[in-house]
Amino acid sequence: MMNPNDVNFVSHNALTEAQSTPFQSKLYINGCFCEGSSGELSSRYSPAFGHLVGQYAQANEADALTAIDAARKAFDSGVWSDKTGAERSNILLKIADGIESQLEEFALLESMETGKPLQQAQDEIVGSIDIWRYAATLARNLHGDTYHNLGSNKVGMTVREPLGVVSCITPWNFPFLILSQKLPFALAAGCTAIVKPAELTSGTTIKLAMILESAGVPAGVVNILIGSGRTLGAPMATDPRVDMVTFTGSTSVGQRVAAQASQSMKKISMELGGKNPQIIMPDCDWEAAVDAVVFGVYFNAGECCNSGSRVLVHESIADDFLAAVVEKSKLVKVGNPLADGVRVGPMIHEGHLDEVLGYIAKAEEQGDNLLLGGQRIEHDTGLYLAPTIIRSANSGNVICHEEIFGPVLTALTFTDLDEAIAIANSTEFGLSASIWSKDIDNCLTASKKIQAGTVWINTFMDGFPELPFGGYKQSGLGRELGRLSVEEYTEIKTIQMHIGERTAMWVSSADPS
Ligand code: NDP
Repeated sequence: MMNPNDVNFVSHNALTEAQSTPFQSKLYINGCFCEGSSGELSSRYSPAFGHLVGQYAQANEADALTAIDAARKAFDSGVWSDKTGAERSNILLKIADGIESQLEEFALLESMETGKPLQQAQDEIVGSIDIWRYAATLARNLHGDTYHNLGSNKVGMTVREPLGVVSCITPWNFPFLILSQKLPFALAAGCTAIVKPAELTSGTTIKLAMILESAGVPAGVVNILIGSGRTLGAPMATDPRVDMVTFTGSTSVGQRVAAQASQSMKKISMELGGKNPQIIMPDCDWEAAVDAVVFGVYFNAGECCNSGSRVLVHESIADDFLAAVVEKSKLVKVGNPLADGVRVGPMIHEGHLDEVLGYIAKAEEQGDNLLLGGQRIEHDTGLYLAPTIIRSANSGNVICHEEIFGPVLTALTFTDLDEAIAIANSTEFGLSASIWSKDIDNCLTASKKIQAGTVWINTFMDGFPELPFGGYKQSGLGRELGRLSVEEYTEIKTIQMHIGERTAMWVSSADPS
């Protein structure tokens, strides 16, 4: 345990009534808020303050089947898929307005359930609203192609039809943001959905349900289940009435979901883990690069698939650069997620904190060098882990290639860009990476050779609804966001037409007998 005085720790204040009153909800199936058929409740306690923050009806397999049935019937009825793009777009815009009108409530609930700093939660809800509005523009622009080059008596066209019923399974680290990377695009395409947020952080997803009806989403188009992935995952991934599964979470669960879904050839989209490198060249903008490394690893307490969890530093500057990262890390405020200026809140749950501590212990066992932190911070409540930096001499060591998902930076050195790129590509993941250099050749070489869905040059973890997001290798399948994201939720149909009389018969009376 680490003494809070040894880190930049911000203690807790007494909570206000609004902050301490738990959010409660039932399931949302076929346009109604209903109890789960087991009658059981799930409870979420704040990972910072320890009090009850959310209490929810718990869905079981029977509820999942009811939700799938509702989504299927809603899709087949055409109540949503037959609307014009303009109608769907207007409803998505109303949903965005509805979220915006309750921005502070959404942000507080998100912060309370995840432990993330309130200001960050607010930024994420604002970002999510922007994504809903962006998806609304795509609803009006979805179209196919026509082919006029098939001969004088042929015309071909492709149309994009909504895929059908989509199961959306989301994780606990960015509950509303990740939901917003999936659901509005599925709706823009004309699909219906069953959504299952992580049980630990269901609040903002079910809160959305309270907006859908007034925005004009017909019953059954969106159904929200709260409950464990082990129970609900199988029907959501295997039921023949589901056409697609979109999942964000760990690579291991993603593999299981993909295997289940592939048995009935459902379309799958997977956003999985990462072990994302930031490459620091000697000619980098020093201050900006140090700041980006600190931001990259501690943002969301490192519980982030995009976390810059590996820094690869040119050996000529490594000692000084890492010393600067250590000093800046000491300035990072950790603790009370409701306090101004706090950047790092608690870990999501006790078991996960223990896992992260286990990785730190393993690193020390393997001879890696702990430069900062490495311990839990002593406090009456709250699962706080001190910002941690570990320098490793061996890129084969466990902390250099496994996703730790905590505020733990792994530092490695390299001698030239080729070696840096080889280290960057040496894990099973390929989600994102960055390079810091003023030399355009270095930057473009790295961006071409690194196997990752996103490469940032002299910046880190920027994101825009316009730009696709997703991973190479075991970091995922498919892309979210961007103008093509809505197409992920469509099926292409080819329509071929003949003009005029048909002259070339396959069998003709003039054929030799
Ligand atoms: P999971 O992959 O277990 O959880 C993600 C989602 O999948 C949750 O909604 C979860 O539900 C659900 N789920 C769990 N088991 C199944 C299943 N058998 N079938 C279908 N869905 C299932 O991640 P964890 O929450 O356990 O986190 C573990 C690790 O995953 C982290 O340490 C991190 O490495 C990684 N992770 C990566 C994320 C990313 O953004 N890439 C996000 C979150 C985690 P429920 O939790 O309610 O049971």
